[in-house]
Amino acid sequence: MTNKTPPSIIALDGPAASGKSTLGQSLADSLGYLFFDTGIMYRAVTWIALQHDLNLKDEAVITELAQKAQIDIRPPSMKDGRSCDVVIEDRDVTWEMRGGDVDANVSVVSAYAGVRKALSEQQRRIGMRGKVVMVGRDIGTVVLPEADLKIYLDASAEERAKRRYDELIARGEKADYEEILRKVIQRDRIDSTRAVAPLRPADDAVIIDSDKMNAKQVFDHVLGLCK
Ligand code: C5P
Repeated sequence: MTNKTPPSIIALDGPAASGKSTLGQSLADSLGYLFFDTGIMYRAVTWIALQHDLNLKDEAVITELAQKAQIDIRPPSMKDGRSCDVVIEDRDVTWEMRGGDVDANVSVVSAYAGVRKALSEQQRRIGMRGKVVMVGRDIGTVVLPEADLKIYLDASAEERAKRRYDELIARGEKADYEEILRKVIQRDRIDSTRAVAPLRPADDAVIIDSDKMNAKQVFDHVLGLCK
């Protein structure tokens, strides 16, 4: 077996609920890298806007919010499946930020050019230090085009909705499969058709269709690409 240095900057993109966070976290743990889920930043801006009743259609207001938002990421304070605590305005919003309201509005917020500029500049600054697994929609194409390894993790909308459904049920929350499926499809449509940094695989990305693979198989496959 040849010994090569593992890729230092790993970009992991893909549609909603494709398993990016699970894969990214295990990969980062196994390589001793930082795991950075950029979706948190778009969700946090959306959460603040909803919390303060800001007009989500007002691009200037939402852009200013993205430039000023204080989003605090801390080590996980409890073992309930979270990879970190997300704290905004002294409140733990880790799960609230993943709720239906944010899901339904985040794609509108993340389509604004000014919002993307503000957040992706910070993502790039952190990612360029290396030893990082960065997860999102545009990491391989826009945020870190020089990434050493680019993965695009895909799965059918039905499979992704099922995984999201199982996740919610496991956390003891209410879930409606058809509703989740409809929202996943809608979010993908907005994310992949927006003018700035749309969701798409980079030309040099390794595309993995995880429909018929479990999380362990996907992880083993990607770890194999790293070592
Ligand atoms: O990955 P997650 O589902 O948490 O992302 C929430 C939303 O944030 C996505 O649907 C997308 O609109 C936006 N996003 C983005 N670019 C990223 C990460 C997330 O536009 N790099």
